[in-house]
Amino acid sequence: MAVCDRLRPFGSTIFSTMTGLANKHRAINLSQGFPDFDGPAHVKAAAIEAITDAKNQYAPHPGVPALGEAIAAQFERNTGIAVDPASEITVTAGCTQAIAATCLGLLNPGDEVVVFEPYYDSYRPCCAMTDATTRSVTLHAPHFRWNDDELRAAFTSKTRAVVVNTPHNPTGRVFDRQELEQIAALCIEHDCLCFSDEVYDRLVFEGAHISIASLPGMRERTVTMGSVGKTYSLTGWKIGWAIAPPALTAGVRAAHQFMLYAVATPLQHGAAAALRSGNDYYEEFVETYRRKRDFLCDALAAIGFGVVAPQGTYFVLADHTPFGFDDDVAFCTHLVRDIGVAAIPPSAFYDRPEHGKRLVRFAFCKTDDTLQAAVERMGKLKS
Ligand code: GLN
Repeated sequence: MAVCDRLRPFGSTIFSTMTGLANKHRAINLSQGFPDFDGPAHVKAAAIEAITDAKNQYAPHPGVPALGEAIAAQFERNTGIAVDPASEITVTAGCTQAIAATCLGLLNPGDEVVVFEPYYDSYRPCCAMTDATTRSVTLHAPHFRWNDDELRAAFTSKTRAVVVNTPHNPTGRVFDRQELEQIAALCIEHDCLCFSDEVYDRLVFEGAHISIASLPGMRERTVTMGSVGKTYSLTGWKIGWAIAPPALTAGVRAAHQFMLYAVATPLQHGAAAALRSGNDYYEEFVETYRRKRDFLCDALAAIGFGVVAPQGTYFVLADHTPFGFDDDVAFCTHLVRDIGVAAIPPSAFYDRPEHGKRLVRFAFCKTDDTLQAAVERMGKLKS
């Protein structure tokens, strides 16, 4: 293997590993978070129309203006912050590339980045690509809250940024105002940046989503990232964005221009149509997912898992220890091979894998039939 020193420690992403195993064992795939149903017809029609209309050459590298305006309008509706798309919004290939461009464009070798574990798996390798290091703060099960002293201790004189992800994958936590204020205070005290991954902002069942950029003193130091993948069930489009004041956007774009230059033009037009969806769309979206969450959480609890229903996202982290396995990898291996259901072993999301070994992550962005079939299969688990 010729993988460079920086990336060798990270191996393969758990998402492709588990989807590969699901396919191999013909298991029902509740591992990687992608819907097994399609996105809205009006959004697909807008992308098709853009192709037919010859909108097929490079987009401007910050993004198609119609999409920039739609992102700005939505951000202002949600946060009250008016942004100028020309200097403050960059369209990226999904939020994952927004994170990469943000890290590559704003971090220097030796910088430290605070992350919350369990974390989305790309944060640490993206920091490593810049020779920055991460310090993680554990969200402790079962309620996935941090310890205040541990949070404070993670910030040092080398801290350049904190990565915030709310609603949080994989725990389903929606950070409340007080928690975000605590992070903001440390950010301001240490004069560092905040990289805020908000791709699940529309998937909130309890509490309310708050963008940390809207807190006093945070706008000028925050890169807010989002995408259309989750909210419009179009994960394969890979359309995301980074919103940040001009000085920070300059860093994001410095990296983005040489990584991709620009993102697929017709899909950006489709994404602009998606962001113009009416309130009915979002209300129905969250109610559909609330039903799926309740169905899966109730069924998992009846089977014998330890379950705390997520406040947001389309993931639930359950405790598998009633079934007697040593760790999450052993449990997920049994589940995919012998029971026919794929899930994610969350130790992949921790610096200290032992913190995740009692847990298993299920995605419920699946049709009711898929969830029903998965639950029936898991009924064979023996506690
Ligand atoms: N965000 C999705 C998840 O957490 C998958 C991302 C990916 O496949 N890279 O499952």
